Amino acid sequence: MGKVAILGSYVVDLASLVDRLPIPGETLLGSRFMIGPGGKGSNQAIAAGRLGSEVFMIGRVGNDFFGQMAIDNFRREGINIDHVAIDPISETGTAQILVGQDSENMIVVVPGANSKVEIEHVNNARAVIQGTDIFLTQFELGMKTVEYGIETAFNLKKLVIVNPAPAQPLTREIFPLVSIMTPNETELQSLTNMPVDEIEQVEKAAKALRNLGVDQVVVTLGRKGALLVNESTVQHSVGLSVNAVDTTGAGDAFNGGLVTALAEGKHIKEAIVFANKVAALSVQRHGTAPSMPLRSEVESLDH
Ligand code: ATP
Repeated sequence: MGKVAILGSYVVDLASLVDRLPIPGETLLGSRFMIGPGGKGSNQAIAAGRLGSEVFMIGRVGNDFFGQMAIDNFRREGINIDHVAIDPISETGTAQILVGQDSENMIVVVPGANSKVEIEHVNNARAVIQGTDIFLTQFELGMKTVEYGIETAFNLKKLVIVNPAPAQPLTREIFPLVSIMTPNETELQSLTNMPVDEIEQVEKAAKALRNLGVDQVVVTLGRKGALLVNESTVQHSVGLSVNAVDTTGAGDAFNGGLVTALAEGKHIKEAIVFANKVAALSVQRHGTAPSMPLRSEVESLDH
């Protein structure tokens, strides 16, 4: 069992299914409403946990109903929450999600307590980061805190994996501290200011990201799978052909799969194949965290 430290967000997902997305000022009737745990940090923690990783979450929730729900859920999923604090003032983060036909979506995130995760909280979790194999983070907390987390894990000689989502500028000096960056095409475009419409352009942009100092780049390509660009190779690992009903959280499933495989000592190419399977299972179900598959489900794809 690999050990993974995740510095990241928790937001409660408030998701409605609609026939089509509304235009400004319009009120629509939805067909279903679902409430559940979300936030890229939490989703990736749950994905990795269900796949067999021992996960240590570093984050913050509010002192409210949703915060308690978060704590209960992390416990149920077997995630270590010694470093998930309850903020006395800020509310728990929320994400309001609309899922339309063909799984198109619209999302508004209010970070709340996530923006109160500070450098001192990362320092408090130093021993936890030290004790794990991999450090994983995303861009849903304050960027100062995220960058400090990356520096801390790098200095502790950990494998540092960064899912740069949602897209935000990163300080130049931080790129060389990142072992593996996992942007989707939009995030890659925003990090490099380069076009990503064709696979050749994606490859060029990923190489530009490597020139900034990132060791390995894994670009997720939706149903087309993922592209690995590192020092020795450029490899397209095709996605599984499945009937997608909700791709919200596909990137989170992929990252949870990737870190789990890497923490178990698998080679990066093998880890990407595994992550594609995890994500393909998740897009066949509604919701984010609830759609994360168990290890046994991933393994049963091989039989
Ligand atoms: P999101 O923001 O919706 O969580 P993302 O944009 O971060 O997703 P994507 O690149 O869309 O991430 O998808 C991540 C991974 O999920 C892909 O690399 C692929 O493995 C899998 N995936 C996504 N969509 C599909 C699909 N329609 N069919 C099969 N696999 C898919």
